[in-house]
Amino acid sequence: MRITNQRKIILEELIKCSHHPGADEIYNLVRKSIPRISLGTVYRNLEFLAASGMIKKLDFGNGQKRFDGNIEPHDHFRCVNCNTIEDIPFTMDIMPLDENHMWVKKRIIYGMRLEIYGLCAACSAGK
Ligand SMILES: [Zn+2]
Ligand SMILES: [Zn+2]
Repeated sequence: MRITNQRKIILEELIKCSHHPGADEIYNLVRKSIPRISLGTVYRNLEFLAASGMIKKLDFGNGQKRFDGNIEPHDHFRCVNCNTIEDIPFTMDIMPLDENHMWVKKRIIYGMRLEIYGLCAACSAGK
């Protein structure tokens, strides 16, 4: 697979960011190295990187997609005040699905997601 220079810079900026930026923020970061890049190009490259498994696209159901340069399996914490998204540094135990339950048997389950949200350390200190 050929990785264009643009795509490489986008990937590098995203890996440097630990708070899971949205496309707009990545666009502002990338513009420092590629001033003439458009938001659409950044977005298309992000979609490409996500589709090829080099980054993860996170959807918290609030309309704005966030991107993650860390593709290792991990869970996230979302701050409802400043909207930052942090990696949770330990493994969460989720009860496995009861595979013999009729409801489960009639469906194909792709995965499970646990959402943890509240106030981050900075926001909770300010309250
Ligand atoms: Zn916060
Ligand atoms: Zn993450």
